[in-house]
Amino acid sequence: MKANIHPQFFEAQVICACGNKFTIGSTKEVIHVELCNKCHPFYTGEQKFVDSASRIQKFQNKQKVAQTFVVKKTKKIEERKAADNAPKTLREMLMAVK
Ligand SMILES: [Zn+2]
Repeated sequence: MKANIHPQFFEAQVICACGNKFTIGSTKEVIHVELCNKCHPFYTGEQKFVDSASRIQKFQNKQKVAQTFVVKKTKKIEERKAADNAPKTLREMLMAVK
């Protein structure tokens, strides 16, 4: 091996978000991971959401905002329809009375 060109080798500690820890060889001392073989849905067989950056919460908030937008839009369309059906001229008003 040539001197001073190789990175330092560690017995690295891998720490999962579920709490599982194991040791591997690496150039980093500590490695943090979100999934491991103890908690990955493929190995456990159960469905689970890994929500480290609260992405699910953000998506649900977006859905709520979109729902209020849809309600506003349908209201606007109904108002526009009502305005279209209203009589526009004096003649139409008189025809509606008769
Ligand atoms: Zn894990």
